[in-house]
Amino acid sequence: MVADMYYTIGESQCQCGATFRIEREFLVHNPGQGSVDIVRTRCVGCGETKTFYFQIPYVVDDWEKEGVRVPIYVKA
Ligand SMILES: [Zn+2]
Repeated sequence: MVADMYYTIGESQCQCGATFRIEREFLVHNPGQGSVDIVRTRCVGCGETKTFYFQIPYVVDDWEKEGVRVPIYVKA
């Protein structure tokens, strides 16, 4: 999960073509809905910031039962 997260960020590119470096990361807990890992990054090229949101399933069972894929929200 964590590896996927860093992979996603590592594969992302800024508009300028450079890659993002993680600046800070924090978790937001939503009771009963799991957590959202918020990762703030900055472009190593132009300095543009970008925030990634990763939904973390509350329990693994829910994931399998509902066949839910974890959405990855990417916001500029
Ligand atoms: Zn850039």
